[in-house]
Amino acid sequence: MGLKIYNSLSRQLEDFSPLTEGHVSMYSCGPTVYDYIHIGNARTALVTDIIRRYLTYKGYVVKLVQNLTDIDDKIIDRAQTLGTSPSQLARTNGEAYFEDTQRLGIQLADVHPKATEHIPEMIKLIQTLIDKDAAYVVDGSVYYRVNSFSEYGKLSRRKPEDLLAGARVEVDERKEDPRDFDMWKAAKPGEPYWDSPWGCGRPGWHIECSCMAMKHLGETIDIHAGGEDLLFPHHENEIAQSELATGKPFARYWVHVAFLKINGTRMGKSEKNFIFLRDALDKYPSEVIRHFLISAHYRHPLDYNPESLQTSESALRRLNNCLETLKKYDIEEYNSASQDISQADTALLSAIETMQSQFTDAMDTDFNTAQAIGGIFSLVGQVNKSFGTSSGISHQTYSRAYKVLSETCQVLGIYTMNEQDVAGTAEILNPLLELLLEIRQNARNQKDWDTSDKIRDQLKQLNIEIQDTHEGSTWKFRS
Ligand code: AMP
Ligand code: ZN
Repeated sequence: MGLKIYNSLSRQLEDFSPLTEGHVSMYSCGPTVYDYIHIGNARTALVTDIIRRYLTYKGYVVKLVQNLTDIDDKIIDRAQTLGTSPSQLARTNGEAYFEDTQRLGIQLADVHPKATEHIPEMIKLIQTLIDKDAAYVVDGSVYYRVNSFSEYGKLSRRKPEDLLAGARVEVDERKEDPRDFDMWKAAKPGEPYWDSPWGCGRPGWHIECSCMAMKHLGETIDIHAGGEDLLFPHHENEIAQSELATGKPFARYWVHVAFLKINGTRMGKSEKNFIFLRDALDKYPSEVIRHFLISAHYRHPLDYNPESLQTSESALRRLNNCLETLKKYDIEEYNSASQDISQADTALLSAIETMQSQFTDAMDTDFNTAQAIGGIFSLVGQVNKSFGTSSGISHQTYSRAYKVLSETCQVLGIYTMNEQDVAGTAEILNPLLELLLEIRQNARNQKDWDTSDKIRDQLKQLNIEIQDTHEGSTWKFRS
């Protein structure tokens, strides 16, 4: 089975086949940098990151472009409230965006274009649309003439009468048709502006994305992603502008990420119910937040609550315990020829192969991370159970388990991105536990069973299990 993507344009699961064999061009609508991002914004950014990682895992060469909207009404208003300039506010929040997303293990896109650095290209695109009679100028503003694009509404499937009632459509008597939207806004006093053939002003939000997507990826792109709220009017308008200007399809697969909710309501700035990603990252390791955010399929709503993060935290503990233990078997000097294949090996090898194909099937079915994680954790459970027992499983088999588990976890970014953290934790945890085991052993030698039991029981409460063997005591995280 090859990769299938749910295309919001056709509202169907479609076989994925990029325009140029082996290469994928992808555009994802980035943040409007008027504030820090919340974990809802992070969900959309993370889905983009995982789609890109998975496509790369499948052997595609991916070019990802994600914009920063660094000029916008919200930025101007916020800057005014804070007594700073819009450009300073956008710069600070743009830097914070990269800091936060990198802490979450989100890889940088190939290009992060800023709207303010593409003004001449936007003016050119607007002029093309004016020349094609698809736009008109009123008092220094330029409006897109929705009526000129017969396919308008094809993404959102809204009929003209529904469009009038659509969100974010402003009432403006200067428009020929209430559905028309501005591509260039005439400057208002005190606002930042750029020169243009129509007077001083600034670009509208929709033209920014049409322009930056086409400049960096060409007139037709393979995948265009964003949160579900962007489908209308933002993406509908991007299509109208781009397709009328070029006469070519703009994006071939439209991917929309469902909202992260909190108590059943969309997490959003205007709802004032958000949690900044940086605050969540101060509380939880980043892979825990990643695990939580991809624990549901991206087209399903996901509800935030502290218990879900605790569940993710304990899942990640099991995963790390498993991989760190398996790593010990993944040693080069080990002589594989000397091992026999036992029945236990055959069973585990078959479980590993099953998990690997389940992972690919799940991710090939519209990037179903929830199912992919399910498969990984069922193998983790099986492997963890086999540790410390005389299971007869060979080093080769454990080595294979390590390879497959670490590779698939890397695609989801729930393991290697935090190798440093894990190493850091292991660096402290290992000697600390060795010390505790030594103290416990001394207590046992002196028949001080109270101390010995207390150490064992209290560690158990921390999910750490002590095993007493003939060679001495060892510890492991409980699975
Ligand atoms: P904004 O900065 O509001 O333009 O949002 C940046 C990105 O985050 C857009 O792709 C939005 O669709 C997305 N987004 C905003 N709120 C949420 C949410 N609660 N859940 C998922 N994505 C969201
Ligand atoms: Zn956009």
